[in-house]
Amino acid sequence: MNQPQKNPQPWLLTPGPINTSMVVKQAMLHDWGSWDGDFRALTKAVCDQLISFVDDQDAFVCVPVQGSGTFAVEATLGTLIPRQGKALVLVNGAYGQRMTKILDYMARDYVVLDKGDYEPPRGAEVAAILEQDRGITHVLLVHCETSSGILNPVAEIAEVVEQHGRGLIIDSMSAFGAIDIHSSRVRFDAIISSANKCFEGVPGFGFALIRKTVLQHCATHAHSLSLDLYDQWQYLEKTGQWRFTPPTHVVAAFIQALKEHQQEGGVAGRFVRYRRNQQRLVAGMRQLGFKTLLADEWLSPIIVTFFAPGHTNFSFQRFYDLLKARHYIIYPGKLTQAESFRLGCIGQLFDEQIDGLLEAVSAVLDEMQIDDGNPNP
Ligand SMILES: *Cc1c(COP(=O)(O)O)cnc(C)c1O
Repeated sequence: MNQPQKNPQPWLLTPGPINTSMVVKQAMLHDWGSWDGDFRALTKAVCDQLISFVDDQDAFVCVPVQGSGTFAVEATLGTLIPRQGKALVLVNGAYGQRMTKILDYMARDYVVLDKGDYEPPRGAEVAAILEQDRGITHVLLVHCETSSGILNPVAEIAEVVEQHGRGLIIDSMSAFGAIDIHSSRVRFDAIISSANKCFEGVPGFGFALIRKTVLQHCATHAHSLSLDLYDQWQYLEKTGQWRFTPPTHVVAAFIQALKEHQQEGGVAGRFVRYRRNQQRLVAGMRQLGFKTLLADEWLSPIIVTFFAPGHTNFSFQRFYDLLKARHYIIYPGKLTQAESFRLGCIGQLFDEQIDGLLEAVSAVLDEMQIDDGNPNP
């Protein structure tokens, strides 16, 4: 089941968009009328199935929104945080930073706990900030910070936020669907993700699972019509339709992607394959002399940051081009200090592709006349 197709296209070792199955691609060969009952049924099926990934299903609603993941983040922040509200943004990478930028645009007040490139925010420091600043209404956390690959301590942060009676909004874009959020123990107001990461759909929409009792009070918050999730929710409830043109083909592909997700064993099954990819990848890269940015404890099964080889022959662009010539697309690093690159573990990748990538990396090092991946030779 789910064997990778012999793909004339590149293998994407990236955090999304990712390789999708042939059947997911084929699901887009049909045209849908957005107002039609058949398409409304698809939308309902998507939302119902997404809600099934949280434990307290009656407490949450699923609100999809057109666009990439960032659109869903911006929509959720704008809808949930009142204009007089104030956020504490936990930043340890580019996606935490992006949330501060979003808040700047919408003119919402915020403070930042910035942990640099890859240190995790810890419960005690969040507690200290919340105790000291009573004005903070919401805490914003990135689940897997895709810029380093770190898996942030969600349960630890959620506990503190709950104790202090504030709202927690989680950007779980690159983790939801592969890493269980344990929502019966981890309390949050909203969790955000998109079609084209761990669910292995094609890009085109994001969604938020939002606590109903919270969303009910958000009618007047949004700064933007197209990004008003309260309005989108109300309209969906009333008509079964999205406001404005939905990405019909993307939704149809997503239904198939959800089916394959379930066939693989749901969140647990997907986690097992991604973790296997990650462990195989890291072991193989370490054999080639590469070093990971993070200690094993903080590595996610989503994406891994490696230091660039220290050899003077190394250039990322050449490394990238030579790997691309072998059909492997890798991802540049995002660290402000050291030179690095990233390898994703998600999407339709299996042992065969990981082993193929490792062989390609080894061959490319030879071609570049670099002895090994050691960052400090
Ligand atoms: C991918 C991702 C996003 C959204 O990025 P888009 O390019 O807008 O899809 C947001 N947060 C995290 C953590 C991500 O990994």
